[in-house]
Amino acid sequence: FKRIQLEERSKDELYKMGDTFNQMIDLLENNYDKQKQFVSNASHELRTPLTIIESYASLLKRRGLDRPDLFMESVEAIHSEAVRMKEMTEQLLLLARHEEQWNLKLEAVDLSSQAEQLSREFLQAYSRRVDVVLSEELLQTPALTTIWTDAGKLRQLLFILLDNARKYSSDIITLELGLYPIPTEVSYSGRVASSNAERNRYIRVVDRGIGIPESELPKVFDRFYRVDQARTRQDTGGSGLGLTLAQRIAEALGASVHLQSEEGQGTTAIVTLPATAKHMSGFSANSN
Ligand code: ADP
Repeated sequence: FKRIQLEERSKDELYKMGDTFNQMIDLLENNYDKQKQFVSNASHELRTPLTIIESYASLLKRRGLDRPDLFMESVEAIHSEAVRMKEMTEQLLLLARHEEQWNLKLEAVDLSSQAEQLSREFLQAYSRRVDVVLSEELLQTPALTTIWTDAGKLRQLLFILLDNARKYSSDIITLELGLYPIPTEVSYSGRVASSNAERNRYIRVVDRGIGIPESELPKVFDRFYRVDQARTRQDTGGSGLGLTLAQRIAEALGASVHLQSEEGQGTTAIVTLPATAKHMSGFSANSN
C-alpha cells in the first residue's frame, strides 16, 4: 500500500473537518436525547390519566349498576381525566407544530377589549373575577391600547397565564395593561425617534395565591415541570406544559414572559409585548 501523504495545509483542513463532524455528532446526539426524553415524558404523563380512567371504568363495570354513588364518582373522574388528556394532547400538538413554524397573522389588536373578553369568559366558565386595570397613560390615550400582533396567539398566551392564576389562587385576579417604561430612543440628530405608540406594552397577570418557591422559579418553564407534583396534580389537573407553551408563543410574537412570585403571597406574570411587528420572529416576510 502506498501511504497518502498529506500536505501541511490539507492536514489542517482535515482536522478542521474532523472537528466539524464531531460537533455535528454531538449536536445530533443531544437532539436525539432530548427527543427521547420528550417522548418518554409525554407517554408517562398520558399514562397517568389513562390508568385512572381504566380503573374507574372497571369499577363502573363491576359495581356501577347497583351503587349510584360510585356511578357518579366514576363518571366524574373519567370525565375530568379525559378533559385533562385532551388539553395535554392539544398542548403537545401546539408545541410540536412550533418546531415547524407557526403561520402568524398580523392584525390590529385592541388589548383592552381582548382583556375584557377574557375577563367575561373567566367569570362565565369558572365564576372567577378578573379585574382589568389600564395604566394612567392608556386611560388618557385609549388609542394606545391597540397594537399589531396575532390576536389568536396572544389570547392563547394570556389564557394560559390567567388559567394558572385561577388554578393556584382563589381570590380576584387582576389583569393590568400599560406602556412599558422603556426610555425613549434619541436619534443621531437629537430628535426623539420613538413615540408612545412604538413603546412596548406590558400585561401583568396578578394573583394572590399559593405562589412559587424561589428555588422552583427557574424550572417552571421546563416541559412537564410542576411544583410539588403530587399535590398540584390532584388539586388542579394541570399538565406542566402551559408555561412552556406560553414562552414559545411569546417568542414567536417577539414578546417575553417573566414570573415574579413569593410563596404564600402570590404570583405576577409579566408579558412584554412589542407594539409593531419589527422584532417578531414568528411572522413570515409577506405578513402585513
Ligand atoms: P400546569 O399545567 O401544571 O399548571 P405550567 O407549565 O403552566 O403547568 O406551570 C408549571 C408549574 O408552575 C405549575 O404546576 C405550578 O406548580 C407552577 N405555577 C405556574 N403558575 C403559577 C401561579 N400563578 N401560582 C402558583 N404556581 C404557579
